[in-house]
Amino acid sequence: MVSSLSTAYDRLLTKLKRAYVVETVGGVLGWDEQVNLPPESAELRAEQMAVMAELSHQASTDPEIEALLRDLEAARSQLSPDQEVVVRWTRREYDRVTKLPAAFVAERARQSSAAYHAWAECRKKNDFSGYAPFLERQLALAQEEAALLGWGDRAYDYAIDKHDPGMTTAIVAALFAELKEGLLPLVRQIVAAATPTPPDLFRGFPVEAQRVFLREVTEKLGFDYRRGRIDVSLHPFCGGAPTDVRMTTRFNEDAPLDSLFSSIHETGHGMYEQGLAIPDLGTPLGQSVGMGVHESQSRLWENQVSRSRAFWAYFEPRFRELFAAQIESVDSETLYRAINAVEPTLIRVEADEVTYNLHILLRFEIEQRLFKGELAVRDLPATWNALSGEIVGLVPPNDTLGVLQDVHWSGGAFGYFPSYCIGNMMAAQLWYTVLREIPGLESDFARGDFSRLLGWLRTKIHREGRRHDTLALVQRVTGEPLSPRHLLRYLRERYLPLYAKPAGNA
Ligand code: ZN
Repeated sequence: MVSSLSTAYDRLLTKLKRAYVVETVGGVLGWDEQVNLPPESAELRAEQMAVMAELSHQASTDPEIEALLRDLEAARSQLSPDQEVVVRWTRREYDRVTKLPAAFVAERARQSSAAYHAWAECRKKNDFSGYAPFLERQLALAQEEAALLGWGDRAYDYAIDKHDPGMTTAIVAALFAELKEGLLPLVRQIVAAATPTPPDLFRGFPVEAQRVFLREVTEKLGFDYRRGRIDVSLHPFCGGAPTDVRMTTRFNEDAPLDSLFSSIHETGHGMYEQGLAIPDLGTPLGQSVGMGVHESQSRLWENQVSRSRAFWAYFEPRFRELFAAQIESVDSETLYRAINAVEPTLIRVEADEVTYNLHILLRFEIEQRLFKGELAVRDLPATWNALSGEIVGLVPPNDTLGVLQDVHWSGGAFGYFPSYCIGNMMAAQLWYTVLREIPGLESDFARGDFSRLLGWLRTKIHREGRRHDTLALVQRVTGEPLSPRHLLRYLRERYLPLYAKPAGNA
């Protein structure tokens, strides 16, 4: 690369890093709002965040970025592969923030705020028709956004690609159809054999001891507390930056496994962030690929690793030491079954890892019909309930437990749900790949050593940044295209033996 190009590239990196730093300030304010904010300080915080959003928008729409991109694009053949990745991704993101007229962006923000409040209120009152006009506007805005960005009549493809670059409706539909075919009979088989967890199994687990256990577990898994922390918030999340990861959890004395597994889930997200290449932060080389890949990391640690026998072989003694009185009468097998309990539920966020995917298949079906115009918003509840009966196997008795349960659509986040299921498929596929490549991996877990797994994920996934989109990354790491076969195999191997009736038992 000639020196003027090299100067342009360096200048672009400087601009990107500045925009990134501004964005992380807003992130810390957002984290603080959910973790620390005194009740009467919300107004000032809203103003602070609005100013930061404005600064962030200015930094990422800086016209100099456009000029630099043009110079670099004109000399594309002289760019190194990494430089090409940076230019390509920056163009994509830059267009997305600059091609939307300011009036549209403001209107979308206003509508999202109004729709969120309407959703919270209508969910409480089981009032879908009160919420419907807000949802209709969100759907229209999502379609308008796609059109403004040149996706024309492929609005749902745009919504999917926004969360998982390179994915399309057709690709997801094919993956999900294959998954559904294998999953429906498998779920029926597992559910028929599974024994429900006794309702009073876990009572009175002191929060302080839960905190100690959670910290020990997440530290052992490999979360680096020198550049991250975990606090308490109403809804668990993982935010911050790779050198300052902010995770949250919540505690319930009667549901210790909930906070444990949700924290491990967030830890998976956090370790992905911590594994990104620090010198490249703020550039596409130091950024996560998309939602599906992110979710594959959280789910792999949460499910394949932390619900395994090997994991509990190591951690159960410590668990019993901390909660001796509470768990005295619970034997190891009962504990392990509670950790891997399967029970269909109407509520997605409460679903176990076996039935969870059914909730996503339902939402994907609904979103496709909405975007194709085959389904009107006012007819949503009837269609939701019918599909829920067909796919999840349960019909909601009201809309609060049905179509009104998720916050996503109120914020215009269409095309987001498929990422969860893509993450599950990818996690299972990575799992069988790493088991093949690192013999004896699970015996590491039984000794409390997770470093070989984390090292593998660091090299194969985290350090890659955005060099490959979701499908290309899966192909590269596992040697084959993304497929639901691995998830089905994993669910079969983990759950069928667990709930198979002991031989010779009448
Ligand atoms: Zn997640």
